[in-house]
Amino acid sequence: MNAEIISVGTEIILGDIVNTNATYLAKELALLGIDVYYQSSVGDNEDRLINAFEEGLKRSDIIITTGGLGPTNDDITKEVACKVFNQKMEIDKNSLEKIEEFFYKLGIEMTENNKKQAYFPKGAIILKNKNGTAPGAILKKDNKYIIILPGPPKEMKLMFEDEVKPYLKDMSNEILVSRTLKLFGIGEAVLESKIIDIINEQNNPTIAPYISNMELRLRITAKSDNEENANNMIEPIIEKIKDRVGKFIYAQDNISMETVVSKMLIEKKLTISTAESCTGGLVSATLINYPGISSVFMEGCVTYSNESKINRLGVNPNTLEEYGAVSEETAREMAKGIAKNFNTNVAISTTGIAGPEGGTSDKPVGLVYIGIYINGKTTVNKYILHGNREEIRLRATKNALNDLRL
Ligand code: ATP
Ligand code: MG
Repeated sequence: MNAEIISVGTEIILGDIVNTNATYLAKELALLGIDVYYQSSVGDNEDRLINAFEEGLKRSDIIITTGGLGPTNDDITKEVACKVFNQKMEIDKNSLEKIEEFFYKLGIEMTENNKKQAYFPKGAIILKNKNGTAPGAILKKDNKYIIILPGPPKEMKLMFEDEVKPYLKDMSNEILVSRTLKLFGIGEAVLESKIIDIINEQNNPTIAPYISNMELRLRITAKSDNEENANNMIEPIIEKIKDRVGKFIYAQDNISMETVVSKMLIEKKLTISTAESCTGGLVSATLINYPGISSVFMEGCVTYSNESKINRLGVNPNTLEEYGAVSEETAREMAKGIAKNFNTNVAISTTGIAGPEGGTSDKPVGLVYIGIYINGKTTVNKYILHGNREEIRLRATKNALNDLRL
């Protein structure tokens, strides 16, 4: 079974709002095992909307629309859908009462055009709108369905969750289960070359590499009649992938890098402090995302100036003079210095050139040194990171946490 999404509204076409409805619906439909091959956006225009419906009905079993259900004249989705299906509308008393009640409760006078929202074709399934006035509807003709949902995301989501999802579940006998592997320290091309044979020999589960939040992910998706079977299909694939690139996989599904690192510190009872230059506090802020980190996180310093590196961390002025603030030597002294000052088992230091200015041929923009102190031993890793200032700082932060993980 396949569906397509038509988002109705001139504001979408003009780029005034982000089409979060389509994103939400596409995700939900995938989880229900319903393929979505097409999505389109149409302004509040009858001819173009008719055209979108007609094209959609040629290629899809189900069309789901959002938007254009309001009381005003530019809201035409339901009327157009009925025209396309050649179905006549009549007033639905029950819906009219609900709309009247909604206005009464809010103490607002109901205008005549609100009645338009109570009209439906005979035989349509009417979908309650618990967060607003406009009910949605499921229209059916032959073996084709048009599911009409309101535009405001809050109304649309509740209606989909409560009424459309159970309906679609009954229609479909397949579900999709997805698991995500999160990788760090390996590029997309290298990853693909290492597992291309596994990717190619599979079509259920499918394996898809993608990048999100500046990190590489692998999504493994299985189609089956039940969740347990789907999971049993996915597990051996995950094992195979782990055999090849396991050391780059830091977590699965919704687990973040800071969660992995924080849990490790807490489990091993290792206290931590940070001395940050180019990341300006991002490393500590990211670690502090993890609730419970307070038992090990002692202090984070943003030591941006040379004076601060000298006075707060005890970096030797000669080191700064000879090697510069962005150097392996400075990163080393920063990590050691903060660990000593706060008597922590672990410390992270960062120093680098975040740009856009300040790069030289020796020390280009994106050059970052990360110092990792663990129980008396300090290592420094050098990175050349790409991106704008914000991205370089974020990448440096992710690298710092990943370095601690290894
Ligand atoms: P209303 O009764 O509010 O007019 P409606 O069903 O007619 O509801 P629209 O007028 O198309 O819906 O949209 C109302 C508001 O809902 C938009 O201004 C926008 O804020 C939000 N909205 C509409 N479509 C989308 C979408 N695809 N993604 C995210 N938000 C949307
Ligand atoms: Mg509207």
